[in-house]
Parts: sequence; structure tokens; C-alpha cells
Amino acid sequence: MMDNNDIIKLLPDAVANQIAAGEVIQRPASVVKELLENALDAGATQIDLFVKEAGKTAIMVIDNGIGMSETDARLSFERHATSKIHRADDLFAIRTMGFRGEALASIAAIAQVELKTRRKTDELGTKILIEGSVVKSQEMQPMPEGTTFTIKNLFFNVPARRNFLKSNQAEMRHIIDEFHRVVLMHPEIGFSFSSNEKELFHLYPGTLKQRIVALFGNNYNERLLPVEQATSSVSVNGFVGKPAFARKTRGEQYFFVNRRFIKHAYLHHAVENAFQELLPKDSFPSYFINIEINPTEIDINIHPTKTEINFQDSKLVYAIIHAAVKKTIGQHNLSPLIDFDVDPKLNIDFSEISRANRQVVHPTVSFDPEFNPFEKTKTQSFNHHEKQKNIEGWRNLYGERIDTHSSVEFENTETQQTPFSFEEVTKRFIQVQRSYIITSIKSGLMVINQHLAHWRILYEDFLKRLENTKQASQQELFPQQIRLNATEASLLRELIPDLKTLGFGIEEINQTTFVINGTPVNSNEKDVTQTLEKALENYKRNQHDLHLEKRLNLARSMALQLAIRNDHDLQEVEMTRLVDKLFACNVPDVAPNGQKIFFILKTNEIESRFNETK
Ligand code: ADP
Ligand code: MG
Repeated sequence: MMDNNDIIKLLPDAVANQIAAGEVIQRPASVVKELLENALDAGATQIDLFVKEAGKTAIMVIDNGIGMSETDARLSFERHATSKIHRADDLFAIRTMGFRGEALASIAAIAQVELKTRRKTDELGTKILIEGSVVKSQEMQPMPEGTTFTIKNLFFNVPARRNFLKSNQAEMRHIIDEFHRVVLMHPEIGFSFSSNEKELFHLYPGTLKQRIVALFGNNYNERLLPVEQATSSVSVNGFVGKPAFARKTRGEQYFFVNRRFIKHAYLHHAVENAFQELLPKDSFPSYFINIEINPTEIDINIHPTKTEINFQDSKLVYAIIHAAVKKTIGQHNLSPLIDFDVDPKLNIDFSEISRANRQVVHPTVSFDPEFNPFEKTKTQSFNHHEKQKNIEGWRNLYGERIDTHSSVEFENTETQQTPFSFEEVTKRFIQVQRSYIITSIKSGLMVINQHLAHWRILYEDFLKRLENTKQASQQELFPQQIRLNATEASLLRELIPDLKTLGFGIEEINQTTFVINGTPVNSNEKDVTQTLEKALENYKRNQHDLHLEKRLNLARSMALQLAIRNDHDLQEVEMTRLVDKLFACNVPDVAPNGQKIFFILKTNEIESRFNETK
């Protein structure tokens, strides 16, 4: 019996839903996440997301999945209505994205929702309008197969929450984060994302690597190393960024468990620890790692929006991730050319290259009267690792034994005399159009773009120097003055310490004038001020367009300007050195902007040309 003293009252459903909704839906991004995940669960192969005003005004998700029957469409908005759990046991076996059938009920409680859905076999689809948990209309109409959810005026009936939303910019960032998290682990599915009628992402189905590149930019193509490790209970796969490309800000760090995004400080440590001393100070590795694990191994006391989960044996998962990443980095360092195995488009067997066509000529080591063993020891210890890598690279390329002493030749770009003579090396490079270097390799003809090759070489060289922050030696120049406007001058001033590390001799004379008396590579004295100006221009543009990190940007801009141009004569010796250095690079196949540096004209292609004319 009700009594006036009773103080407990049942909340009306709509209010209960509103309160519960707060748990699941905190902001537009939460709606986006739930709708995208539902679309994936529905087996869609194409999912399109549209938002207006950072999702505050409208969010629409269109999928081509299985759709819903008329009854299911109506039921989908009921709390705890879900097609995904039938028995309590299933909770532990859940691999799909949705969890407790709360998302749609919550969204409908705090927004105006339109659902349009049709199953393949139905002639007509169902259209439902629901607002603050109240069904406004339901009708049958023709519509495309699949499901479209439109969510308007989020929190229209909960002003306190609506006011709590951040600026459009901040809410957009949350949405983009959620979008990234969902699309990364579903590269086989096409996605698009438009904001205020402008398309921000258009993602074609592909591989995980292609998806990462599509999301974060072309330069990821050369930055990723595959991670793979499987045990009977846990398997780990994905990519880590190369140490050289670690970022100063915590950038792309993604863990997924069974393709669901999670945050995990302990596992993060496993990755960071595997990189250890290879990371420059204060920089963070990027990673995209999926952990496949039997759901029974996960403590699945889940909260609908929780991105943190517990593993029953987290030490084991830690150890597997740590080992997997360490193995990847180790292989990368030992064999810089391993990358070629990763890009399926580029199937070159480097052990083949040139071995047959090139006569093995052992370099004659000539005595160098200037040789000072103590001086060399210094550079050698500093460069030991790099050198080792270069030798590996050379070995891989030509598949032959290299006299360690001769590797001194690789040590730095500025070395003028070489400790051995090239005269005896049989001629093996031809320059075409003063722009392309052609060389014969076992599988055919290799055509190298000289400018792009040199850009890549200088870029990696500069990056290394900047990482080591050791003053590099300079090519002396007749001092040149450079005058800049105030903005450029302040930019240059800021970059002076790094420019010195690269090997520039540069001093400030006054607010807008600088003097340059040395450069990292041999460059024409007349050109040097122009080179610097252009590099600055380039740097500014990269800053604006690519948001490149300072160090990467500087290395990239400077290397571009200092790289030999096309339409420039090269001597045989220069070509030899260029090619050797190119294949000692970490990423010899693409220039810093992603352009291919060389291609191979396969022998069978050459043959087929002649067969055509038979
Ligand atoms: P859950 O995803 O946890 O099951 P939701 O509230 O997100 O809960 O969705 C409720 C139900 O509505 C789902 O179980 C599913 O059957 C159905 N549903 C939701 N979105 C879609 C969609 N895009 N396509 C097909 N069915 C859907
Ligand atoms: Mg769901």
C-alpha cells in the first residue's frame, strides 16, 4: 500500500532511460561509436558516416548490412534488447562489438532518432521516428537494403548535458578518434566520413597497412614494421613505427583486443620497453597492435563504454607483445632491406640483384697516408651501428663478401677521397637523360631516379645526425650572407642549433641577416642562400600541410634542397656511390614524399617486347 510516508518512487521509464543514457552516451562521439559498431555487427561492407556541427546537430550512419525486420526495428530501441546475447554464457564468448543492448535505448532517450532499415528479402523497409524514448511514427516504405540511423539534436531534452558539450572542434576530435579506432581494425570494410557536407575520409577496403596509410598519411608506408607472434592462447599482430620516426607527442598508439580498441598502460609499457634505447629522448613509438585472445581469458566485467579491460594472465600477454615487438625491431636493425618483404607490390629478391651480372671485383685498398687510427676510432665507435647496417645492406644487395675496411667509404656524405680506387670496378651504371641511373641486375634492368635517390640518402643521413645531436662536419664555403623577412628570420633563428647539427655553418649577424660559411654536402656556393631560402619555404609548407614534426620536417626540407637535381651529369664514381648509399638506406624504395625511387624492368618484360614483334 502506498503511504504518505513512503519516500521511494519509481522513476518513469523515460527518466530512467535518460539517466542510464548518461552512462553510455557522453558525447556525439559515443553515438558515432555505437552506430558504427552496430553497422559492423550487421555485416556491412560499406559504412558511411555524416555529421553536422560535430554531431551536435545531426549524426547519420548508413550501412549495407543485414537490416532488421519490422518487429526487430521497433524492439531494437528497448533496453536490453539485443540480438547478440542469448544465454548468460554468451557474455563470455562475445566477440562482436555490441554488448548489452543499451546503446539504441539510450540514444533514443536523449535525441530525435530516425531509423530506416530493410532486409534483403523484404520488399518494403521500416521507418521509425522516436524522440525522447517516445515512438512518434512507424511506417513501411521502399528503401535501399541495409540500415540508416539519423540522430538529431543530441541531448535536446537534457539541457544540462547539452551545455556540457565542448566546442565543435573538441567534439570533432573525439569523433575522429572513435572513427580511427573503429576503422583501423576493419580494413576489409569501406568507410567514408563527412562533416558538414565535406568528405574527410574515404577509405577503400584493403590491408591493415593500407588502412593506416590512408588514415595517417603516405609517409607511413615507409615507417611501419610488421609485428607478428602467435602462441596457443594469444596471438599478436599489427605494426609498429620505425624507431627513427618516433614522435615527440604521443601519437598513434593503438591496442585492440579481438579488434576492439582498448587502453592498457601495462601493455603500453611492453611496447615502449621493447624499443628502449632505440627511441630518441622524449619521443614515443607509434603502434597498431591487435591481440587475439580467447574471450574467456579476458575479465569481461565490462562497462559499456569502458576501453580498459583486464586479462586473466596479463604477464603472459605482456611477455608476448614485448617479444614480438623486440623481434621486429631487431630484424629491422639487422637487415634494413627487410621492408621489401612487407610491401606486396614490391617483390624483389635482393639477394639476386646483380650477383650474376656483376663480376666480383674486390676493391683494392690503397694506403691512405692521412689515416689516423685514433681519429678513426672516434668516428668508428660513433658510427659503428650504422656502419654495420650499411655493410649488411651492401651484402644483401650484392650477396658478396665485403672487406670491413672498405666500408669506411660509406661513413659520411662529406668524405672526399675514398680509401680504394674505383677504376678497377667494371662499368655498371649508365646515366640517361642526365636524370636516371640504369643498371643491370639479375632480374632485369633497374632504373633509378637520381634526385629522389639522393633525397632519400640525405634525408636519412640528416635524421641520424639530428637524433645524435652531434655537430656534423661541414664543407667550407666562402661566407655568404642571407637576408630574410622578420618571420623567416625568426624561424631560421629557431632552427640554427639543428642546422648546425646537420652540418651548416651559420651565424646570426643581426635581426634579419645571417652568414653561412659551411654546408653539410658539397653545394654550389652561389646556390647556398637560395637553397636555404627554399628549404625554409618548404619547411613552412610542410608545417602547415603535413604537420610534420620539427626534426622530420627539417631533414626532409633540407635534404630535398641539397639533393642533386635531375638534368645533372653524374660521373661513374658518383653513380656507384649514390647507388651504394641508396641501398644502405633504411628505406631505399621511396623518397620522403612517398614517390618511388626506382623500378625494375623485368627480363621477361623485355623478352615479351620482342615476342610482340615476332
Ligand atoms: P547491442 O548492439 O548491444 O545488441 P544496441 O542497442 O546497440 O545493442 O542494438 C540493439 C539491436 O538492434 C542489435 O542487437 C541489433 O539486433 C539491432 N541493430 C542495431 N543497429 C543495427 C544495424 N545497423 N543493422 C542491423 N541491426 C541493428
Ligand atoms: Mg550496439
